Amino acid sequence: MPNHWIAERAKCFDASGIRKVFDLGAKLVDPINLSIGQPDFEVPEPVRRAAIDAIESGYNGYSVTQGAAVLREKLQAQVDAVHGHDDRRLLVTSGTSGGLFLALMVLVNPGDEVIVFDPYFVMYNALARVVGAKVVHVDTYPDFQIDVARVAAAITRRTKLILLNSPANPTGAVADEESIRALAELADEHDIVLVSDEIYRDFCYDGPFVSPAKFNRRTLVIDGFSKSHAVPGWRVGFAHGPSAIIQEMTKLQQYSFVCAPHPFQWAGAVAMDVDNSQEIAAYRRKRDLVVEGLAGCYDLSVPRGAFYAFPKTPWGTGSEFVGRAITEHKLLVIPGNVFSRRDTHFRISYAVSDAVIERGIEVLRRMARG
Ligand code: PMP
Repeated sequence: MPNHWIAERAKCFDASGIRKVFDLGAKLVDPINLSIGQPDFEVPEPVRRAAIDAIESGYNGYSVTQGAAVLREKLQAQVDAVHGHDDRRLLVTSGTSGGLFLALMVLVNPGDEVIVFDPYFVMYNALARVVGAKVVHVDTYPDFQIDVARVAAAITRRTKLILLNSPANPTGAVADEESIRALAELADEHDIVLVSDEIYRDFCYDGPFVSPAKFNRRTLVIDGFSKSHAVPGWRVGFAHGPSAIIQEMTKLQQYSFVCAPHPFQWAGAVAMDVDNSQEIAAYRRKRDLVVEGLAGCYDLSVPRGAFYAFPKTPWGTGSEFVGRAITEHKLLVIPGNVFSRRDTHFRISYAVSDAVIERGIEVLRRMARG
């Protein structure tokens, strides 16, 4: 295929480094897989049943673009109860990714600057580049907390948007309430859109979840069911924020995703009533297993949310260390440079059985000894 067929925007980012680890792992027999960023718990039975019932009841056509009323109105009521903002509207999207894509498409002009905290979720860099933005990284090492003074220093006339993700992928860091407030106020003062990716909202282990929308009513929130209810394949997410932004995103959804998968929107409405606190408690315990297991061997900022840990490598770069982990120990983890400009750490996902976590820790303790 001639190279000039491919548009420049497709050439400005690479295939996800996570996929590369998956591909390597696919060749291994019985690997210790701590690379997967999706929950391992079962989809609750009433939620599965609701999806099947929706298909059998004939909800297989398009839903309205903004989302089937059964889900959209229920989510809107929940959002109103939590935030109480009169201009906050909601759109059901094709996963959180769909919401992020629509948001960047309708908010960012080529040449605008987008502030992204480093380490970052892989999609942020790629999407920002697709829309022609310049990505401005704000470093958060070594504790992965937000330093608002650093954000203020990164703001220029061209700054259009700040992307926040707390609890965070890949670090598990949860920003403290004071930093969230300061960031929200900073964005408001400078008239910059604050986009808050809240997909790990339910996975907060040491305190309640705090949204920047609490301090800045113009915050655009992106959220979804993939992690909270273990249904990443269903592609159901939602976005809420100022009606003017949601309206533009809805317009573009009409010409792109059309709608989120219709039967799974019905199941999403049922999922909202399902209590996932036991699953969350189990993940908190897994977090403790990892933190205790690596204590004394690894420099690890204690993850307070999501289901990731991001330790520093005891020797070598992130890529060298992970290369050895995979080839010599069949341990699949992700090198830090997939999520960062630095190559000094690696990501562990502990959304697996305790037995797999224990095997992983055993290998990591051996590797730390050199
Ligand atoms: N945001 C973050 C921070 C994520 O980690 C992920 C999934 N790994 C997504 C968004 C995308 O989720 P979804 O399946 O809802 O598109």
